[in-house]
Amino acid sequence: MTASSTAAAHDTAAEPGVDLTPFGGVVGDQAWREEILRLAAEQDAVVLAHNYQLPEIQDVAHHTGDSLALSRIAAESTASTIVFCGVHFMAETAKILSPDKRVLIPDERAGCSLADSITADQLRAWKAEHPGAVVVSYVNTTAAVKAETDICCTSSNAVDVVRSIPADREVLFLPDQFLGAHVQRETGRENLHVWAGECHVHAGINGAELAERAAAAPDAELFIHPECGCATSALYLAGEGGVPAEKVRILSTGGMLDAARGTSASSVLVATEVGMLHQLRQAAPNVDFRAVNDRASCRYMKMITPAALLRCLREGLDEVHVDPDTASQARSAVRRMIEIGRPGGGE
Ligand code: SF4
Repeated sequence: MTASSTAAAHDTAAEPGVDLTPFGGVVGDQAWREEILRLAAEQDAVVLAHNYQLPEIQDVAHHTGDSLALSRIAAESTASTIVFCGVHFMAETAKILSPDKRVLIPDERAGCSLADSITADQLRAWKAEHPGAVVVSYVNTTAAVKAETDICCTSSNAVDVVRSIPADREVLFLPDQFLGAHVQRETGRENLHVWAGECHVHAGINGAELAERAAAAPDAELFIHPECGCATSALYLAGEGGVPAEKVRILSTGGMLDAARGTSASSVLVATEVGMLHQLRQAAPNVDFRAVNDRASCRYMKMITPAALLRCLREGLDEVHVDPDTASQARSAVRRMIEIGRPGGGE
């Protein structure tokens, strides 16, 4: 088992011109799984995998879940090393909450187009245009942006977070325009300003396709998992009546798995990143789970390959560092998100 790539290491992802060829040359077979678990035990590491990871990564991890659940697990774990199989902002969030632990990501180039849609400088300039406004940032943001934020939110608690802010205060909501539009509609708030960011995977879950797939499968339920930016356009469309409301279920990861086990529908359309299908099919093998769009796959999530994870545990790479001042400024915004977010309640 050797990990190889032509890619040069980079501090964060998704920068123009950065080679995003994943580390390759390793098969995620039984020998690989045993080696990963052996190395993890040897290094006192807990391996966490986001739901949108490759199936073999999800299967070898000690815990699989959404970014917030994994950050909570990371903070509570007694392991001295956290291996975060996900994208860079998730590993950063784990480091913000667990500054004394060593946090590794198997490929630091695994970024997020949504997180990259606003920089700390851009946010500072926006704040200067709206002095006194409360800044609410979706969790898909860099540590530097979180440090400029008053309250972070997940898609499940975004509405509650905004409702908790006095009605006469302006709110700057970022970076996802679809989640922002959803929050604006739900709260009816006119002094909410929304940043025009989006996730590239949105393109895979567009409105016409969603409505068409729902019409072609009249008996199917529609599960929307709003945690990652890729499904927030579907969340918005469901609220607009673009698909029949009675068929739509907005569900957390845990809620989606429970609903999968309990559904009487024989088929379910899933509007989220395709990685989630792996867990759903395991939970309810008799239900026909289909992606609303098979192309709704996040290239950054899929950069965490068996080769990258092996390299990570063998070489201690890539380590995630967050400047202590930035981390301490970001921590209170992240903690407020965790306090307002209900465990298992939608994130
Ligand atoms: S699916 Fe979109 S929002 Fe989620 S990590 Fe990938 S680029 Fe970011």
